[in-house]
Amino acid sequence: MEWLFEDLLLNFLFLLFFLLLIPIVLEQSTASKKSKKTIMLFTFLLTIISCLTFPILSEDGYIFDLRYVGTIIGGLYGGVPATIVIWVVTNLYRFLFGGTGAWLNLAFTTSHAILLLYILRYFRRSPKLTKLMIGTVIAFTSSLLVAIVISLSYLSFSLFNIAVYIFAQTIAVAIIIYITEIIYETALLRLRTEKMDLVSQLASSISHEVRNPLTVVRGFLQLLSQTDLPHKKKQEYLNIAIEEIDRANSIIGDYLTFAKPQAAETKLLDTKKELIRALDVITPLANMNSVSIEAKIHSFMIYGESQLFQQCILNITKNCIEAMPNGGTLTLQTKLDNNNVILCISDTGVGMTEEQKSRLGEPYFTTKGKKGTGLGMMTVFRIIESLDGTLSITSELNKGSIFCIRVPLVKQKAITKNEEEVAAVYES
Ligand code: ADP
Ligand code: MG
Repeated sequence: MEWLFEDLLLNFLFLLFFLLLIPIVLEQSTASKKSKKTIMLFTFLLTIISCLTFPILSEDGYIFDLRYVGTIIGGLYGGVPATIVIWVVTNLYRFLFGGTGAWLNLAFTTSHAILLLYILRYFRRSPKLTKLMIGTVIAFTSSLLVAIVISLSYLSFSLFNIAVYIFAQTIAVAIIIYITEIIYETALLRLRTEKMDLVSQLASSISHEVRNPLTVVRGFLQLLSQTDLPHKKKQEYLNIAIEEIDRANSIIGDYLTFAKPQAAETKLLDTKKELIRALDVITPLANMNSVSIEAKIHSFMIYGESQLFQQCILNITKNCIEAMPNGGTLTLQTKLDNNNVILCISDTGVGMTEEQKSRLGEPYFTTKGKKGTGLGMMTVFRIIESLDGTLSITSELNKGSIFCIRVPLVKQKAITKNEEEVAAVYES
């Protein structure tokens, strides 16, 4: 019996196509980790099923193909659940064809699955070359075993055929592991450089942003030192200088905590205490804009860094107040949902369009012209991320916006009825 080389190539093609092309595509996509894992599992199954459906050689109920490449790669990269699913599906499908081969397949895939489950943890922790070696050894020994058993018990196989079978599977596993590792490595590297880029880009542009107004101030102060300046001119220069200092101040204010992203000290925070402190800071600004504050806040315990949490609340409340130039109501509310604390901050201001909403958090995105920095919301997103939380935003033009932060609850402080009532309304 001779190999049909077209069929061998076809098998090879399935393997390369499914096992390489799809991880490449998935790596680029933004799908969630869980759905990526599911797609990967289906890819493994599809590979094995394609190999079984279009075998290289099929004689007397024995199907010969490169399916073990799929089971090995699927097990090594798919983990425990994938190994088990692959084992079940491969055997179910193989039994549809019947024949002695199905029982041999059961024996091989079972020993394979046990070996893979045993070695998985070690494989995951290994560097690229060790992974390559592990995969190659598994592929080589299992192909050798299959070839020996089959040729002894069943088919009259030439040495050449055995060699090709072993070689094809081993090489396929080696190539796929090698390229998969490179794909993951580049993805990891890209992620790292992207992060580094963001930080260094921000650091440099922010120092630039702050330096600009400072240079302007310096220039006007120099002008002011001329003694023969008319009073009106002096006043004008002073106003410009003050404006520029305010600008530098607001850039630093929106960004301050972002400049030191390592949390200084994560500890238990009491939401009520923290929010009251933030409100104390924001109240003067609210009064200036005739914004009244309504707060219905409770003591819930969360993990975080006080300074970061404060900055996050300040940036959101500041935006809310700025969205109500003709007055309105700023509302703060806390509640529990399962094991999460939900903190909602809402305004009755100008609201946002869908486009504006989708751009929130983008560095330097602002609709406030020279007065805005476009750094406030970016900082907010970063801080909420560091709190292990999420932020959801709803907004309607000319009606207002609601910002809801969801963070994990650590433990609920015992609230007495009295305390609850006291906390009920915090009025400015
Ligand atoms: P800045 O406040 O300096 O403009 P931010 O990052 O804090 O920068 O906000 C970015 C933009 O998001 C604002 O310019 C504004 O258009 C929009 N925005 C943020 N919060 C609100 C809000 N509560 N209501 C309406 N628009 C908002
Ligand atoms: Mg802002």
